[in-house]
Amino acid sequence: MNISTQSIALFLEAIKAEIATNADEVTALDQAIGDGDHVTNLLRGLEALEKQAAELSELDWSAAFMKIGMTLMSTMGGASGSLYGSLFVAMGKEAKNNEMSLQGLADIFHAGVQAVKTRGKAELGEKTMLDTLIPASHALNVKADAGASDVLDAIKQAAYDGMLSTKDMLATKGRASFLGERARGHIDAGARTSQLMICAIADVIEQN
Ligand code: ADP
Ligand code: MG
Repeated sequence: MNISTQSIALFLEAIKAEIATNADEVTALDQAIGDGDHVTNLLRGLEALEKQAAELSELDWSAAFMKIGMTLMSTMGGASGSLYGSLFVAMGKEAKNNEMSLQGLADIFHAGVQAVKTRGKAELGEKTMLDTLIPASHALNVKADAGASDVLDAIKQAAYDGMLSTKDMLATKGRASFLGERARGHIDAGARTSQLMICAIADVIEQN
């Protein structure tokens, strides 16, 4: 597997379609235990990236990830804007030392997820996007030697299980942490959108 930055437009299109299809559900999740703006924040970032798709396709992955991170940081707003921004900037730094094979991507994504943990001062089990990102990163690290379709299936499954695991958690970070026990019974919006995006990316890789 060797993905080029020429595919960025395809990834963005697939991600946006997936978020749009599930927008009402995600907004309801963020309304239940947050302030309801998560989809709007995300779409603002995705639209800014779409405008840069041609430019991004001329860059190598390191520069492209960095630019994506800076753009998300400056356009999205919300807690998720700085967290996704940190994710991609850190991926860009790590991509300097790695090629975009599955093994390389495992290292790159791991570095990105570490940066989200640092930025959000959060860990697994706090009812955030990290409950999707950490298991997905772990699956990619464990499976990176397997065939591409096994790896992609493992990531999708780990992201899905991680997203669902947030339902019964208490939130200890972000807006939902103000709700105490009332946050239980609701899936975290950021965990859901990161799972949707990971699955959309995996599907594009599988089909190309
Ligand atoms: P805001 O909470 O500022 O309104 P968004 O609605 O865009 O921003 O994003 C909320 C999502 O951000 C949450 O659902 C959660 O997944 C994620 N999040 C919030 N705080 C943190 C944190 N400290 N660490 C990791 N993720 C977080
Ligand atoms: Mg919000």
